[in-house]
Amino acid sequence: MNERFASLEEYTPGEQPQDKKYIKLNTNESPYPPSKSVLRAVTKKEISDLRLYCDPECKKLKAEMAKLFGFNGENIFISNGSDDILNFAFMAYGTKGAAYPDITYGFYSVFAQLHGVQSEIIPLKDDFTIDVEQFKNKGKLVVIANPNAPTGIALSLKQIEEIVKANQDSVVLIDEAYVDFGGESCCKLTQKYENLLCVGTFSKSRSLAGGRLGFAIANEKLIADLEKIKYSTNPYNINRLTQITGTATMKDNAYCLSNCRKIIKTRQWVTDELISLGFTVLPSKANFVFVKSDKISGLKLYEELKSKGVLVRHFEKDKIRDFNRITIGTDKEMKILINKIKEIL
Ligand code: PMP
Repeated sequence: MNERFASLEEYTPGEQPQDKKYIKLNTNESPYPPSKSVLRAVTKKEISDLRLYCDPECKKLKAEMAKLFGFNGENIFISNGSDDILNFAFMAYGTKGAAYPDITYGFYSVFAQLHGVQSEIIPLKDDFTIDVEQFKNKGKLVVIANPNAPTGIALSLKQIEEIVKANQDSVVLIDEAYVDFGGESCCKLTQKYENLLCVGTFSKSRSLAGGRLGFAIANEKLIADLEKIKYSTNPYNINRLTQITGTATMKDNAYCLSNCRKIIKTRQWVTDELISLGFTVLPSKANFVFVKSDKISGLKLYEELKSKGVLVRHFEKDKIRDFNRITIGTDKEMKILINKIKEIL
């Protein structure tokens, strides 16, 4: 293999056990199934049509998204999960390097390595917030998850605008995978700033992680760049069933909003419970909480919970090895989690 790839440190996805039944709170999926309209959309005819290639332009899905988000089709890019867009962005805009926080989504550094992009890794402040000043005038690709992962802490729209405004000679990618759980989306700012690439996903608030559907909203020039890369790699990257289920999901936005409200409410309950058990819980605007206890190490808690049938996410990494990231599930799942934690403590 090409030397460059042989030495790559690849991304490690969260565990996806296919055998034992766990309460799965480790990869920030929605605990709620896709909308009923999704089930109705997957008809026998659609299955039979799988013999045909899918629409490379995803016209129906794009039209539905344009309607809901209030944009034109040429301002929307659709991808096979938002990871695809992150990949394309490092490929397209990383020539002068990329700046991102030290504690953030682990795939950024993998894409940087994959495309030979020089990384400037900017430490979070001691309270795990992003130091906005450090992200100004970078002269290179800037990548920020907002809310950040795995901390769950969000920047305000005003702070995001400051960063975008102070980097007008380079692309600023705001990864909004978790924005629907209480953050403020910057998508409207793309009408004002040509350098802003706002990235979203159907994997979290829209219950379609397994369908693999991501999107970007941006100025038409940035969208055209992404399309060029897509058409140079895999034009049929959104399969038929995903286009159909994605379109049906968009048509039932009320269901998504209602699930988000439920998750926010459950998040508050879990936060209060964990604090009363002595945990430190970072202020989350995402569908997970990032927590640590002085009574038990992060790794031990992860292992003990796993042995009791509850999967959470542990990162054996400097600055955060005391923590675990816990996805917000249903109320019932979270009650079990809290009981198991009480038993362990
Ligand atoms: N961004 C962040 C911050 C994430 O946590 C994830 C989920 N692992 C993604 C992007 C990618 O999500 P997907 O490819 O499922 O859209």
